Amino acid sequence: MTDTPTTYALIDGRKVSGEIKSEISAKVHERKLSGKKVPHLAIILVGDDGASQTYVDHKVKSCKEVGFHYTMMRFADTISEEKLIKHIDHVNDDEDVDGFIVQLPLPAHISVERITEKIRSDKDVDGFTNHNFGSITSKNPLLLPATPYGVIELLRRYNIPTEGKHCVVVGASRIVGAPLSMMLAEQGHATVTLCHKYTQNLAEYTSKADILITAVGKPGLITADMVKEGAVVIDVGTTRVEGPQFKNGYAIKGDVDFKPVAAKASYITPVPGGVGPMTIASLLLNTLHATEKRNP
Ligand code: NAD
Repeated sequence: MTDTPTTYALIDGRKVSGEIKSEISAKVHERKLSGKKVPHLAIILVGDDGASQTYVDHKVKSCKEVGFHYTMMRFADTISEEKLIKHIDHVNDDEDVDGFIVQLPLPAHISVERITEKIRSDKDVDGFTNHNFGSITSKNPLLLPATPYGVIELLRRYNIPTEGKHCVVVGASRIVGAPLSMMLAEQGHATVTLCHKYTQNLAEYTSKADILITAVGKPGLITADMVKEGAVVIDVGTTRVEGPQFKNGYAIKGDVDFKPVAAKASYITPVPGGVGPMTIASLLLNTLHATEKRNP
């Protein structure tokens, strides 16, 4: 295997996320000085899934960093769907709460779609509701899906143009790939190809991408022979791989075979430290936007 040359540029999501948090923190400070409402994020966590707990801890820590108020609500995984909906209604009606998320996944007996749709769309800072999904194509979308928003913001802050470029998105889920492809076309003016598990001969599409974005959750899916020389490669994939060779017994892997792909890329995101921190930054940005809209 070739060593990674230094010709590519690493897209540092941690750094950009830190910059966004500083900007948000300054805005919160200004709002406080002028007597305006401080953004308030409410988080619902059901069950004791370790990964979900870690994500929620990061979100709480980030709220503290930027000076947001937050409310953390935990429920046992035995909670019924109806009871959970009652709590959601309560948060919807709480005028002090500006942004509101229900951490996924939920236990199997609870419908993710039903729960997501119960969240008031003007408080839906994950951007998961049908209303916010649909508003991507409107002139003034309010709350964009957080991970796609983070990807677009990374490209923007690294001055990577999308207009007229061929963007290939691999993975077409409702929370990442599908909305991202719409945002790249609508706001980024890109030509977009959306690939998924039924796509035949994936490499035929990925190898034509100026900007290749993968959000699948299969480590090693994107190999160097599937990538065009000089492409921008964004890896949203986040898979926990266990093994004795890793410190702590596991490692977080993206979809991209990093070293060989980096050798061909002009820009590439690492995993971890690429898109992941941007999702939290987008959540905070959405909470600030929701607050500004409700309490200018
Ligand atoms: P999902 O399981 O809902 O969707 C996966 C998508 O990949 C589907 O559209 C499926 O058709 C497609 N797919 C599956 N196998 C494929 C293959 N062999 N070739 C091409 N496409 C294939 O997953 P998701 O919720 O969209 O998440 C995708 C990945 O992104 C996961 O690893 C997840 O952990 C990660 N993720 C990361 C962040 C972050 O903040 N970094 C946020 C959300 C999701």
